[in-house]
Amino acid sequence: MASPKSKNSQTVKNELPPGRRDGANAKPRPRPVRSRYSPAEVHEIFRRFLVKRPEPRGELEHVNAFTLLVAVVLSAQATDAGVNKATRALFKVADTPQKMLALGEAKVGDHIRTIGLWRNKAKNVIALSQALISDHGGEVPDDRDQLVELPGVGRKTANVVLNMAFGQHTMAVDTHIFRIGNRLGLAPGKTPEQVEQGLLRIIPDEYMRHAHHWLILHGRYVCKARKPDCPACVIADICKAEEKTTNVPAPLVEIAPLGPIDEA
Ligand code: SF4
Repeated sequence: MASPKSKNSQTVKNELPPGRRDGANAKPRPRPVRSRYSPAEVHEIFRRFLVKRPEPRGELEHVNAFTLLVAVVLSAQATDAGVNKATRALFKVADTPQKMLALGEAKVGDHIRTIGLWRNKAKNVIALSQALISDHGGEVPDDRDQLVELPGVGRKTANVVLNMAFGQHTMAVDTHIFRIGNRLGLAPGKTPEQVEQGLLRIIPDEYMRHAHHWLILHGRYVCKARKPDCPACVIADICKAEEKTTNVPAPLVEIAPLGPIDEA
């Protein structure tokens, strides 16, 4: 899905100093709080995530950068499974901004009625399709400043699209990553953006391509919000969370990639 332009973005990114992976127009941000982990410990954490899931994938179904963008916009305050259920039929008939616009707000609304805030989201999907056609030649831009100008697109959505569709080393901080950053003391922060900056500063470049997915999956299936499943955790010996219940790491074995997810 990478576009020729994304290569240029990558070059610019690689010229940025550590912790400034967000483009030349980035505004100065508050300094992140120090991680409780040494560089060697951070490296080991992500090495183990890599062994466990060599090719992690996002769980939102999509067929191109546009449908990814729409799926992420729809996923605000909704589960990935719920979004997938609605978008399977929607993306069959509308996988480009032009087709989405032709479908119209009422029909988009019919498809996504099971998703929370569907009325507003249907409006945004049509408005963002219109903006992509009029301002970006019908293409999804690979630039954060341009993405966040689109209706319904915030920093987190832009980071997901930049990472998944264009391979940029961004960190989209959702509820799971925010919790892990703080619970483990990996990248403490009061706001998602502080956690984002902290993680960008400490995660080695070689792991940045998949770091976002590894952390989400770790938070969703192991280091869960209410009760972390420490006996199933491959980094239990390194973890410095107050809540952890064991120092013995789970066996480090590759697990099968997840298939399409549906609500039980
Ligand atoms: S040991 Fe427990 S608290 Fe620490 S990362 Fe693993 S699941 Fe989370």
